[in-house]
Amino acid sequence: MTGYAGKSIKVDLTKKEVSIFDTPVELCNEYLGGRGIGVRMISDRITYDYNSHDMPLIFATGPLVGTSAPTSGRMSVISRSPLTGTVFDCSVGGKFGTELKKAGFDFIEIVGISDKWVLLEIDNGNVAIKDSPNLYGKNISDVRSILDGRGSYASIGMAGEKQVRYASIVFDGHYCAGRGGLGAVMGAKKLKAIKVKGDGKIPVADPDGLKLARQEIMRLLRASQAVFGEFGLSEFGTAALVDLIHARRMEPTHNFRETMFSDASKYSGYNMKIYYKAKKAGCAGCPVLCKKIGANGEVIPEFETVSHFGALNGCNDLSAIVEANRICNEYGIDTITAASTIACYSEINERFLSPDEMIRLLVNIGMRDEGIGDMLAEGSLRYATLKGHPELSMSVKGLELPAYDPRGAYGMALAYATSNRGGCHLRAYPISHEILRKPVSTDRFSFEGKARMIKIAEDLNAVIDSLTACKFVFFAASLEEYAKAINAVTGENYDVQSLLKIGENIWNLERHLNELNGFTKSHDDLPERFFREGGTSSRNIRIPPIDREKFLKARENYYRIRGYSK
Ligand code: SF4
Repeated sequence: MTGYAGKSIKVDLTKKEVSIFDTPVELCNEYLGGRGIGVRMISDRITYDYNSHDMPLIFATGPLVGTSAPTSGRMSVISRSPLTGTVFDCSVGGKFGTELKKAGFDFIEIVGISDKWVLLEIDNGNVAIKDSPNLYGKNISDVRSILDGRGSYASIGMAGEKQVRYASIVFDGHYCAGRGGLGAVMGAKKLKAIKVKGDGKIPVADPDGLKLARQEIMRLLRASQAVFGEFGLSEFGTAALVDLIHARRMEPTHNFRETMFSDASKYSGYNMKIYYKAKKAGCAGCPVLCKKIGANGEVIPEFETVSHFGALNGCNDLSAIVEANRICNEYGIDTITAASTIACYSEINERFLSPDEMIRLLVNIGMRDEGIGDMLAEGSLRYATLKGHPELSMSVKGLELPAYDPRGAYGMALAYATSNRGGCHLRAYPISHEILRKPVSTDRFSFEGKARMIKIAEDLNAVIDSLTACKFVFFAASLEEYAKAINAVTGENYDVQSLLKIGENIWNLERHLNELNGFTKSHDDLPERFFREGGTSSRNIRIPPIDREKFLKARENYYRIRGYSK
């Protein structure tokens, strides 16, 4: 099958051994790549602790990586989450995946624990484990100054070294495998960084077919207001959502006690673009370029980050929000969990924090400073439980909720609850239907039809993460166009239904793996607050509490459609 490099790497850090193996073609047929392959590869070891010798950390590209398919520069990192205990994958951009594939490899499986800090270096066909005393104790910008150059790299900062439970892995200096703490898995293995460089080419079965598929996708992207429109993603990045979510009265504010923050416009995509003179940037192979970099090199935060360091923590100081994002990138910390954990701390201690205090706490967390840093480095649920208030952790399965209040979009409520990796907006991304009205608009305040919608969207996103493409492109294009692209690359004959079946199998495997670790239906639930307290109603928009009976009925409906009995 073309579209794959054909070889993969296994590294045992305990034995300091590297082996090269043939990429398993039958698994590629069944699971495509990225998230699907990664989840399958760790499935026989999923009950091990995240920091055990045998728990694998997988870096997986997909069949489209390194080809001319739009958004073909993404890849996945997979392991068991130190934060949630669930199986966990992160989709990440940058150019690491492209370089890895050009170096001749599809996947890297890392097991074992090194006795000292090491760097894994991949230079075309050569793979070596190297001591890295010069990298140890360094944050991301220092690592960057050492490793920057030709090729790409993935690294942890101090938070990963100290096994903060929501440490991220940072690629090429600022693309993050952010959620779930996979940086702590890397830190537990004493693997500080991976550097990769490749010069090869990715074989494609039908170059003309790929060209046509690309043209179709590009036509749809250019016609899409959400992507290339005046107020779209390409122009303002994901922060284009700030105004929209504000107007819908569904921005989580003060640890989800309210759903409207009057100063939100200060960190809107438009304001940040003007203030920082932001330019477009993005992942390899992407025509959209939704990332934004300021004139002085500031990394402009994503929507979830500005909203959670802003509204969720009651902070209207744009420079403090951008600084909070910088610190998270620097130490390698997930911004959503960090901001939520601080908001939870603030509510439990019954006081609002100043921007300076918020930033100091982030540094405490990144260094796991004794006392408060150490406690908050465990995430909001462990902290709130320690303080006798688990109900104030606004999380599902221990993963903190992002910046879409579920009281303002009931599909999102159901998607948070059923998500296999916990409180995540990207497993189904119903915001596309409920707020952006793409590809089909639905009533955001109704559970009607949501169970089936969420099931299909979960399967679809499992496919997207396994190809490995970018979800944002699916505001415009669909699996129909991507099926043509993958067939042209691999020479196979997938159609929409066969791809969705693969997505369903991946989803069911993830759920099964979570069951092996003790997860049951009781974990498919939302924090109590959403059923007891309403949000901030105004401008003729009422945000009542979610009707629990209706939520439970929709959840039962979802189980029935999925065929889950227990
Ligand atoms: S749309 Fe944004 S996140 Fe997606 S591939 Fe392009 S630059 Fe990366």
